[in-house]
Amino acid sequence: MPDFDVIIIGAGPAGSATALQAGRAGLRVLLVDARPFPRDKSCSDSLSAAVIAQVRDLGLEDRLLALDHVPVREISFFAPDGAAVTVPVLKIDSQARARGMICRRILFDEMLFEAARELENVTGLDWCCATDILVQGGRACGVTVDRGGGRMESFTAQVLVGADGANSFLARRMAMPRYPEYRIIAAQAYYRQVIGLRGHMEVHFPEEALPGYLWMHPTRTSQTNVGLALPLEAWQEKRHSLERVLAEALASPTLRERFAFAEQMGKTQVRILPVGNTLREIHGQGFLLVGDAAGLATPCSTEGVANALISARIAAEVLVEACRSGDASADGLVGYPGRLWREIGDALQMSRRLLTLRTPKAIGSLIRSAARRPHNAGWISGVLIGSALPSEELNDLLGYLNFFNR
Ligand SMILES: Cc1cc2nc3c(=O)[nH]c(=O)nc-3n(C[C@H](O)[C@H](O)[C@H](O)COP(=O)(O)OP(=O)(O)OC[C@H]3O[C@@H](n4cnc5c(N)ncnc54)[C@H](O)[C@@H]3O)c2cc1C
Repeated sequence: MPDFDVIIIGAGPAGSATALQAGRAGLRVLLVDARPFPRDKSCSDSLSAAVIAQVRDLGLEDRLLALDHVPVREISFFAPDGAAVTVPVLKIDSQARARGMICRRILFDEMLFEAARELENVTGLDWCCATDILVQGGRACGVTVDRGGGRMESFTAQVLVGADGANSFLARRMAMPRYPEYRIIAAQAYYRQVIGLRGHMEVHFPEEALPGYLWMHPTRTSQTNVGLALPLEAWQEKRHSLERVLAEALASPTLRERFAFAEQMGKTQVRILPVGNTLREIHGQGFLLVGDAAGLATPCSTEGVANALISARIAAEVLVEACRSGDASADGLVGYPGRLWREIGDALQMSRRLLTLRTPKAIGSLIRSAARRPHNAGWISGVLIGSALPSEELNDLLGYLNFFNR
């Protein structure tokens, strides 16, 4: 008999939420993470309405609201030509007590990890790096971990879950085919003394960042989380380091005065993230991939926590079925990609499409239009986050953007 029903590699939001739900359903779970908790993660620290809805479904809303955070009720958008509009953040869950928030990942991720390992049947080990995958007859069946100082241990399970982030070790070890992937490159840093922040999220579209964007998010420590994200190919055409692209964007006419006295705290973090993947295989013999390991972040916004939590919910359902039936073969786990793409596949594809239509003219026109007619604010959010707009609104939006890009 295997040591566990499920072994989950990686205790970010995807891994901890999978462990929590599989554990609550009675499975024996081992959850390991290479880093000691609490651990930070390079992020713009924004938890969207979709994240809050998922956390509420997990029964953890009180614990989330108890974390140090800045509630977000409004977002300001700034076009390359200086046009600006402030719109309310839409509530997608009428019962939720928050619309959105800025919350440091060091707090959020630890809250989820602790909630999972409070369960008796979930063993949560941090500082425990997966260094090898045990494979029998082509099927993943266990893991070897380094528990620090070269202390190696091996554990077996019916199923493995790769929740180990953008450069998933499990996906590489199981030789998952790599399709040409859509990737975002992002640079992020904390600044002090940014002028003119009004306590809500700011999204800027300076020409240097297009078709990506630049964010400025207030945090509870009077520091501002500042960063820029753009498609990897668009960055490669710029032929400069991403730190330089960010510095140039901060020196653009709409931003330079606001950073006149700003002081950067710590280093700029640069990360590459596969996003909007609906092509990659995300399961195989004895394993499946969740969150960034499956490339599920949203292209328009680089937000990935909501889809990480959605993939965790669906994965946990499929894990329970597979462990009960004793069939963790690729066929036994095939319900996972099917259900996941049904739930988020269209939104990911739409977000990729919207990103290709982001031009200075279209953005400026949309922002001015939203300022004149507040009911257009939903369109602006659609361009920003590629959220699931009703299809007739989406058609209008795409027609509108195509018109300006002719
Ligand atoms: C600059 C930037 C800004 C972002 N901003 C936002 C935002 O504001 N909002 C948002 O929703 N999303 C944002 N994202 C995306 C978001 O951070 C990810 O989508 C999210 O963290 C995915 O969660 P995950 O659990 O899949 O992976 P991760 O959070 O990356 O967790 C993976 C875990 O696996 C562990 N691990 C890796 N290898 C091993 C191993 N061999 N053995 C054991 N453990 C291992 C790691 O230590 C890590 O803890 C941003 C991303 C970037 C790069």
